[in-house]
Amino acid sequence: MALRLDTPVQFLKGVGPRRAEAFERIGVRTVEDLLYHTPHRYLDATTVTPIARATVGEEAIFVGRVVSKAIMPTRKRLRIFRAVLKDSTGVIECAWPGQAFLDRVIKPGQLVLVAGPVKHYHGRQVVPREQIVLAEAGDNGSGDMDRGMVVPVYPATEGLSHRQIRRVIGEHLVEMVQVVQDILPPEVRTAARLVPLRNALLAVHRPESPGAWEPGRRRLAFDELFDLQLVVARARHLAKRAKKGMQFAVKRELTTALKESLPFELTADQKQAIRHITADMTSDNRMHRLLMGDVGTGKTVVALFAMLLAVENDAQAVFMAPTELLSEQHGRAIGELLAPLGIVPEVLVGRLSQGEKVAIRERIASGVSRVVVGTHALIQEQTDFWKLGLVVIDEQHRFGVEQRAALIEKGEAPEVLLLSATPIPRTLALTLYGDLDISTLREKPRSRSLVRTGVRFDRDRPAVYAFVKEQCAKGGQAYVVYPVIEESEKVDLKAATTMADVLRQRLAPRSVGLIHGRMRADEREATMRRFRDGELNVLVATTVIEVGIDVPNATVMLIEHPERFGLAQLHQLRGRVGRGAEESHCILLAGGNQQSAQRLRRFARTADGFKIADQDLKERGIGELAGVRQSGGYNLRFANLATDGDLVAASRTAARAVIEHDPNLGAPEHGPLRARIERRYERGIELFRVG
Ligand code: ADP
Ligand code: MG
Repeated sequence: MALRLDTPVQFLKGVGPRRAEAFERIGVRTVEDLLYHTPHRYLDATTVTPIARATVGEEAIFVGRVVSKAIMPTRKRLRIFRAVLKDSTGVIECAWPGQAFLDRVIKPGQLVLVAGPVKHYHGRQVVPREQIVLAEAGDNGSGDMDRGMVVPVYPATEGLSHRQIRRVIGEHLVEMVQVVQDILPPEVRTAARLVPLRNALLAVHRPESPGAWEPGRRRLAFDELFDLQLVVARARHLAKRAKKGMQFAVKRELTTALKESLPFELTADQKQAIRHITADMTSDNRMHRLLMGDVGTGKTVVALFAMLLAVENDAQAVFMAPTELLSEQHGRAIGELLAPLGIVPEVLVGRLSQGEKVAIRERIASGVSRVVVGTHALIQEQTDFWKLGLVVIDEQHRFGVEQRAALIEKGEAPEVLLLSATPIPRTLALTLYGDLDISTLREKPRSRSLVRTGVRFDRDRPAVYAFVKEQCAKGGQAYVVYPVIEESEKVDLKAATTMADVLRQRLAPRSVGLIHGRMRADEREATMRRFRDGELNVLVATTVIEVGIDVPNATVMLIEHPERFGLAQLHQLRGRVGRGAEESHCILLAGGNQQSAQRLRRFARTADGFKIADQDLKERGIGELAGVRQSGGYNLRFANLATDGDLVAASRTAARAVIEHDPNLGAPEHGPLRARIERRYERGIELFRVG
């Protein structure tokens, strides 16, 4: 039977129904899946040390046959697994303290690679940090070791070891690679200086020397970025073509009045963003812009300029926020800024009485109200706009695609401005938001008070509580945040609840509230409101504290188990304080090891959200970045956005060029590309559609 990309792996020699089931567990069903099941790391066995040359105090890699093994109990009841390895130069003992289970894995006769330090213990002894069985007792032992000495290590699963995977792939690699078609247009491949697909797959699965996999990885990385950029470029193309926007004129009436009445100078970043927005809104293309900036960089004022530009052109502008508290807060802030201009914003939220809502909707529909702020209540059917010219969406990732679209559809073809307080690295922004234009606010107005960040340990607890008490006595308020992760949700929630009780005792007579993700949204919001109004001094919370809520009196952010948070998340939390005039404090109560304490200290020294996001991306990859998952995050398997900036740029340019000539990928030569994208992104197009 001729092999095809969609041939089930079960039909490969050496894979029966049982093993096929195990493969299925790691997402491998077909030959194509198997080809793309690439090693997650490599062991460099090109630098194997002959056993005779093992030197105490050095790290080395040895390869030898297992000649004997045993489990040695010690007095401290720690069981040590030992095995003796032999190569053509000598023998050496290996010892694995506390890993008696290896007795079931490592067997006499096997060819084994071990890597680790050589110690002195009744002679020389290796204490492996890792070990790989290269061949079974029966195998003649050439196999991997003859082929260049770089050993690929595959993601494995129970009942399917990386060695078995390596053997299956090794046996069929050449045959499988033969059926692969390179569907990347050749001119694109040449321009980005990429290797052909077959070479890439061979290089990744069977590198000839250390590092030889890299050109292969880059090729596969480009492919996945290219697919993504094609989807994004298409969304952008559709959005631009769909409907012309209204064309506003610069009238310098309300906007100038606002500028003159502001109690502060705009930052250079704010001015630039306003210039971008003005250019968008006065051109005949619709604006699709993302305004990205850390908490406190002043996004609201920038949005307000855009809103007034619409209003002075005789249209309405709407600002939607994810919760009632936030909407009310924005309503108040915007109201204050607009007061000198004699404009009162309309605030529409669900908790208003039916009568009030009817009256407000009436004023919106008749055009009496031109500046509107609100929650999801805005997108309900009963809400009609008189002439909606601009839609601003705060914390845009908190809304689903449908919700954003529903608001946008309230107008003919309104301009769209999305706000995000989650700074992300540029490579990621170009990837995730490739269909949007982006403005960035980095600079923070000086008026904001400083947040001092400190790392403390369990032994400092009494002092930390005393500090919180003191701050409360001075009229301050404190957040105490607990991480709650799905895997241990019950235990984590209990810890947060217990802590609320402990704090109630320790801080009496101060009042302590608790909010967590298991509470109903309205209960959460009610507690949050009590904290904002100063009825609660301390709020114990899991990470559900609203982004953007202003509690000027909150001067302490105490974070338990900070090592369990990503840096970007910690930064978001830190942004909850420092919103008033008083100096604020972020205290990280570290429970981890030295290394994690160091990471936290580095974080404590950095205030720039973009730098932190870069670091977070390097540490944890795209999937964990705050806010990214909700916005339709997907996994990039080969591309590393922390280091592949050039590939992101190249794939974006190439994709835009392709889409410009063939927006639907309908040309015959683009057929395979289109098919691959449809396989990969079932909901791809919708994911990126913003209006
Ligand atoms: P965010 O970007 O977090 O939404 P806001 O728009 O809520 O920030 O602004 C935070 C605070 O800073 C507000 O009180 C706002 O009035 C104030 N602010 C905004 N721009 C400036 C500026 N250029 N100088 C001083 N204060 C400013
Ligand atoms: Mg804001």
